Amino acid sequence: MLIKDSYEDALNISEEANLFLFEQKIAPSPANYSVIYLYSSKRNREITELIDQKLKNDAPLEPDFLDQLFYNFVSNSKNIEKVILAPFEKILSKSLSTIESQVANEKITQQNLKKADHVLSQSADNKSLKQVVKFLVSTIEKSKFQHQSLTQELTKTSSEVHLLKIKLEESRNEALLDALTGLWNRRGCEEKLKDVNLENSHASLAIDIDNFKKVNDQFGHFIGDNVIKRVAKSIKDNIAETDVAVRYGGEEFVVVMLNKTKNEAHQVAEKIRIAINKLKLVQRETNTTLPPISVSIGITQVENDSNWLSVFQRADIALYQAKSSGRNCCVFG
Ligand code: GH3
Ligand code: MG
Ligand code: MG
Repeated sequence: MLIKDSYEDALNISEEANLFLFEQKIAPSPANYSVIYLYSSKRNREITELIDQKLKNDAPLEPDFLDQLFYNFVSNSKNIEKVILAPFEKILSKSLSTIESQVANEKITQQNLKKADHVLSQSADNKSLKQVVKFLVSTIEKSKFQHQSLTQELTKTSSEVHLLKIKLEESRNEALLDALTGLWNRRGCEEKLKDVNLENSHASLAIDIDNFKKVNDQFGHFIGDNVIKRVAKSIKDNIAETDVAVRYGGEEFVVVMLNKTKNEAHQVAEKIRIAINKLKLVQRETNTTLPPISVSIGITQVENDSNWLSVFQRADIALYQAKSSGRNCCVFG
């Protein structure tokens, strides 16, 4: 059975990793453990080669060297989740269920012993047998207590692993998000679009804030940043949950709309353009109202494109047509 296999595999690898850590006198920190777990599993060629090389030269596995391996091959990859945390969770849940079944067995034994004790207490003799039963009852009581605390420990570890997974997911997402606007950054965009089938009908918008230099010059970069934030929010508010909004560069955005035709994309683009143009932006300190902000938008649909870059390039050409047609408008490309 697949699950049983991977549980046993994980257990073997984990034992091997522990032994290696012990033999090499490496501190069993989570980072070191992850690296050595991968080394023991032989699933990561680079880690295997780099560590084997050190071992061949009788060189010690220094903390800096292990840290480097962790950052290069574990922390940035999905490995930590797939190869380490998932099997570890499986081990934990298997251990928990083993304990549960042991506890259930003990309960039955305890009940039987109580019955025996009751029967024995009816007769005056069998003193030594009574003592044996008492001893067994107290042994079971003790092991029940041990199991309880072990279960608590394991449950705690389980939830720690769960939290760790959430944190990892968050930090991975953080690297893919733009800090100012919360939209995807370019890397995030690449990640999000990796699994999209280009053969379906998709559309893409290239959006650039008009005369943004003037905003910066007149009101300063801080206000400029706030304008970028508000524009990003207007974009997000006017697209579907499944669409991908990206801050592609300084004041340039890309929106990828899945399963949308050019005409549907045009409607959305107009909604975005109008919403941004209606924004009322006030500089709080001086109570000055900023002049209306506008954007130019290039719209294109996926045609026989082999990658998203060629789609974005077409949207960009359309955007420049929108700029040369006077700005604050949407143009098909
Ligand atoms: P156009 O209508 O032709 O787009 O004119 P523009 O003034 O917007 O020109 P352009 O797009 O070339 O200039 C963008 C400016 O945006 C230049 C840069 O100083 C500014 N900018 C880029 N990134 C940021 C940012 O993160 N914050 C702020 N405040 N300004 C930025
Ligand atoms: Mg601009
Ligand atoms: Mg620009």
